Amino acid sequence: MDGLSKMTPAEAIETAAQSLALHVRRAKSFVVLTGAGMSTECGIPDFRSPGSPWLANPPMPYDRFLASEEARREAWRRKFALDDHHKGAVPGEGHRALARLVSEGIVETVITQNIDNMHQAAGVPADKIIELHGNGTYACCLDCGRRHELAFCRRALEKDNRAPRCEACGGIVKAATISFGQAMPQEAMRRATLAAGSADLILAIGSSLLVFPAASLPLLARDNGAVFLILNRGETGLDDEAHERFDVEAGPVLSSLASHLARRVN
Ligand code: NAD
Ligand code: ZN
Repeated sequence: MDGLSKMTPAEAIETAAQSLALHVRRAKSFVVLTGAGMSTECGIPDFRSPGSPWLANPPMPYDRFLASEEARREAWRRKFALDDHHKGAVPGEGHRALARLVSEGIVETVITQNIDNMHQAAGVPADKIIELHGNGTYACCLDCGRRHELAFCRRALEKDNRAPRCEACGGIVKAATISFGQAMPQEAMRRATLAAGSADLILAIGSSLLVFPAASLPLLARDNGAVFLILNRGETGLDDEAHERFDVEAGPVLSSLASHLARRVN
């Protein structure tokens, strides 16, 4: 919506919410794809915005992580530096609004690129959320799959100056996220493809839509006949592909959208 930039922030939020509500009322199957911009209002930095601590702590590619103990120690050091940056973060207005839309049956599925567990913390049930890039709030053994808590990993690093190893089998323990160069989780991709492919409305929220295959999901939905909308501050890689885009803060828009639609349900 080009006109949004000429409005006051409050007007732009309300205009975007009303316009989104019209689309949602027409839809039978409404799916969202969320990205890091969803969580910036909680103090969790996104990836590409200027000054992001991700730049100082870039993700370790998977092959390097596997290649040496030194790289693993460095990967863990960077992860904890980033985690410490937003210690104690709680879900924001946008997460709470989306959770409400899910509980009211208005949003069918939340597909997320985020690894911060905020949708779940806001109350979205496990069967309604698909994590494409895993979850950074725990770790797993790459050999036997056993879950390890971050406190255990941090102790290994900070007390013993070594990368954590599996308590059961001695295998390499890694945050339960999908690193660059690591295979996508098959079951999550299967569910996401099904959800996007059968949606008739897909809204990408707070994502630069530059990371694939996540960014291919709205295109799949659109090619199957869905309306594809973008709610994002700033440009995305798919602006020319969407039916409409709203360049505005996500949290307040989602909150207003949930209020508009709740009035319909009640
Ligand atoms: P990105 O950083 O590439 O893009 C985020 C987009 O959101 C930007 O265009 C930014 O302008 C916009 N944005 C920021 N705050 C916003 C707000 N309040 N309202 C609306 N828009 C806002 O993020 P991405 O596309 O998700 O890709 C980054 C990758 O890094 C993902 O794969 C993700 O797994 C990972 N990551 C996750 C988190 C997280 O879990 N919170 C944080 C950083 C990175
Ligand atoms: Zn193991």
